[in-house]
Amino acid sequence: MPIYEYVCNKCQNKFELMRSFSKSSEPADCPSCKGKAKRILSRFTCITTNEYGDPTPVSGGGCAGCSSSSCDTCNN
Ligand SMILES: [Zn+2]
Repeated sequence: MPIYEYVCNKCQNKFELMRSFSKSSEPADCPSCKGKAKRILSRFTCITTNEYGDPTPVSGGGCAGCSSSSCDTCNN
């Protein structure tokens, strides 16, 4: 199962949760305050292709705006 990152609406606690893709967008329970947490995009969300055409995760910052299918802006 994939791992998703969540941030708590109450205490801003960030935690990772392993759950199925179908439940990934559902609110999760914060482990510290039991509040509702929403999913945030982790750095692993960004996939680009390298010079050999293989899918490669984009490391570093600049991926926060990658909600679209294109990660071209991440290569700047
Ligand atoms: Zn919390």
